Formats: sequence, C-alpha cells, structure tokens
Amino acid sequence: MLEAPVNTLLLATSNPHKVKEVASTLAPLGWHICTLQDVANGRPLPEEPVEDAPDFEGNAAIKAKVYAAWSGLPTLADDSGLVVDALDGAPGVHSARWSGVDGDRATRDAANNKKLVQAIEPIPQEKRSARFVCVLCLAEPDGLIRHVARGTMEGHITSDPRGKNGFGYDPHLMLPDGRTSAELSPEEKNDRSHRGQACRALAFTLGQPDTPQV
Ligand code: IMP
Repeated sequence: MLEAPVNTLLLATSNPHKVKEVASTLAPLGWHICTLQDVANGRPLPEEPVEDAPDFEGNAAIKAKVYAAWSGLPTLADDSGLVVDALDGAPGVHSARWSGVDGDRATRDAANNKKLVQAIEPIPQEKRSARFVCVLCLAEPDGLIRHVARGTMEGHITSDPRGKNGFGYDPHLMLPDGRTSAELSPEEKNDRSHRGQACRALAFTLGQPDTPQV
C-alpha cells in the first residue's frame, strides 16, 4: 500500500485530462492528488468496475468504492457526460462509449462526435440546448461515501467542431460567449466547467486538509 500523507486523495480515473483538471483545482487548496498508477506502482490495476447505474451519482459511487477498497485511500471518482435535451438526455451516462466503437480514447471520441453530429442534424438550432454534467464522489476504504458534488456547464450543440483543447465532446459544446469548450484555455475551462464546479463544491465541504505528515 502507498505510504501517503494525510492530505492525499486518490483520483480513480485513467483519463489524464481529468487528472489535470481535478488536480489543478484541489492542489492549490492543499490536497495531494495521486493517480491509480501511483498507487499500483507497476502492479496490475483491479478490473474496471461495470458502470451500470442509471445516473452519474450511482456510477461515480461504484468507481469510488471499488478503488477506495483496493487502495486503502480516500478515493475520488468522477462520472461525467454530455446531456442533450432534444435527445432525451443522451448520451448521458453512456457518453464515453456512446458510438459503441472500441479503441483508444481519440478513436472513441471521434466516433462519438460523429454520432452526435448525425443525431443533432435534424434538430433546429434553437432546440440544441445541452450541458456537461460532472458528479464527484469521495469514498472511504470502508465503503462510506463521504461527499458527493455535482457541477454543470451549459451550452448548445454545434455541428461544426472548433478548438483543440480538452477532450471528448468539447469541440461541439458551444458556450454562451460564442466559443466552444475546446476553445477555452485549461484555466478558463476549470473556472467555469462542470468538473471545476464539482471540485470546488467538494473542496468547500471537505475544508482545508490537516497538516500533512511527511
Ligand atoms: P466517464 O469517464 O465514464 O466519466 O466518461 C465521461 C465521458 O463524457 C467522456 O469520455 C467524454 O466523452 C464525456 N465528457 C465528460 N466530461 C467532458 C468534458 O469535460 N469535455 C468533453 N467531454 C466530456
């Protein structure tokens, strides 16, 4: 098990973008974020849990509990996705693998975005409202869920992708200021994003960490 200072939280994700986004909000507040790779230290990771809950809260709790029990550390898991009103909330909790295409993250993102463009095509501009949703869940190794926080970022879907930053559906979520989420700098995205909001809400309830024992 990892010898960790008391202000350590494990972030249970394999998505490096999420690690950066969460760490950049929580680290300045005194939290040390470690990754699955830090804890595994070369050993195999546990099998990924099946995310079969009907909502973001349920899936975040599934992930947080599994990795907290495995690591012995307080563990944060994020479940997030895109919710499009005109598509009855799809892709929602199925955002990561909506197209059904396997492969690396870039391949899956490209296939998901292609499916999004096809699905939104018949829908008039004024009915394309959508949002990113993020739920962050903090679990203790004994399975106790200590905190749950939710954030959203509102916009509408554009068929014309723009921007090179971020990941996933970022190039297709047009924000009220006329830029897509992929056109925001990492700092701007954190300031207003679903994940940034959820992190700040979580940090607020957690309070300042105790002085680290080194
Ligand atoms: P998760 O890893 O199961 O939470 O899947 C989240 C999926 O939702 C990602 O693979 C993306 O497709 C999408 N998503 C979540 N957050 C964002 C974001 O900040 N930008 C773009 N897409 C996102």
